[in-house]
Amino acid sequence: MQEKIRIALKNTDKIKEILRKYILPTLREVDKEEFIEMQKDWMPVMAICEKCNRIQHRDNEESIKPNRVKEYFGDKEVVSYVCEACGHNGKLSIWSGRLKLNWRVDWPAKWALYKTTCEPAGKDHSVKGGAYDTGIELCQELYGYVGPVKVPYEWLRLGDQDMGTSKGHIFTPKKYLEIADPRIYRTIILRTNPIKHITFRIEEISQYYDYYERMENIYYNIEKTEDSEENMFFNCIFPLTQITDIPEIKLKQLPLKLLTFLTQVQNVLSIDKLYEKAKTFMENNNFENVITIHEFKTLLTQTKNWLEEVKKIVENEKDPKVKREIIRKVEIFTIPNEIDKILIKNMDEKQIKGVRILKEYFEKNDDLDADSVQNKIFTIAKKDLVIPPRKFFETIYQIILGKKSGPRLGPFLSLLDKDWLLKRFNI
Ligand SMILES: [Zn+2]
Repeated sequence: MQEKIRIALKNTDKIKEILRKYILPTLREVDKEEFIEMQKDWMPVMAICEKCNRIQHRDNEESIKPNRVKEYFGDKEVVSYVCEACGHNGKLSIWSGRLKLNWRVDWPAKWALYKTTCEPAGKDHSVKGGAYDTGIELCQELYGYVGPVKVPYEWLRLGDQDMGTSKGHIFTPKKYLEIADPRIYRTIILRTNPIKHITFRIEEISQYYDYYERMENIYYNIEKTEDSEENMFFNCIFPLTQITDIPEIKLKQLPLKLLTFLTQVQNVLSIDKLYEKAKTFMENNNFENVITIHEFKTLLTQTKNWLEEVKKIVENEKDPKVKREIIRKVEIFTIPNEIDKILIKNMDEKQIKGVRILKEYFEKNDDLDADSVQNKIFTIAKKDLVIPPRKFFETIYQIILGKKSGPRLGPFLSLLDKDWLLKRFNI
């Protein structure tokens, strides 16, 4: 990069000329003069101050002043600069590693350095006279490299807002990796036409997983699609979503729904018991790659981080209908450590009788599956208690969750630990 900086410093006039050629026609008459004036003592390089280590200074909200290089002494390969932040007046060798090219030159220098063949960029850089246009010519004229294929794309929106660093409304790749799988993110980007904007919704990540799985199934011929275009599309983009070599067979993964459940019962079940549940699932579904407890813990942490983000969204959501919908779709719940005593006091004889029958049923039967549990609760309500099933379902929810509703009860209870359930039903 230092060599690229040297070339830029030697060719400042040429750079200015290219920038003028592209930028001037896009400016209003009044701004043209100002631009020409600004170019007079402009240099394409900035310096990191040796005294305060800053490269620029923010005057106020609007203007950021870079520590622009003032002069280039070609024979000594040295530049002079004035620090906008602390006022330091210094000199630096061009090989000091403390110089940086201006954005419009930095970009083409990197294309030349990495021999970039394709460089997608946001629509703001793709306008006429933008950094793309000047970049390609600078790349060819200065660095003798043809430059990449231009792929302009729309912005990625977070929820209903554009991302913006100044407003703090941002979402970094690092943050994303804390909450979900990188392949899913690649899928969201790749499935969308670059000129259309993407609305990324954290609360819809489970739908993105579903989409990914369908694509994966079609790629591995596990699922068929009637639509030949879709078939071609998935076959083309699936390999691009992979971050390692493409597996020869589909590597099954724990469903996000199961992980969401296991994550939220961590206060009542030990990690070993949770892993046991996950392992049973993997074995029952013939997983080729049964994950270790360590990998499982990583997935739980990731899911927990995701749920926390979703909860924040729910908190900030003003529309109660939307709020409920997110909670229902993501299946957010909390299991209180203790049952509310008042709740038990308020139960009538029938409700208590029902709970006892259900408890007995759990005592007598091992390995209960979701459907039989669901059916049993129905039968108890209808035959034993002769009350509307809804009322008895609410009773069970209250005992487990402290409120009248929650995820589908059959699968929910069958995933909980039997010993824990027996203790909980001991009312
Ligand atoms: Zn300084």
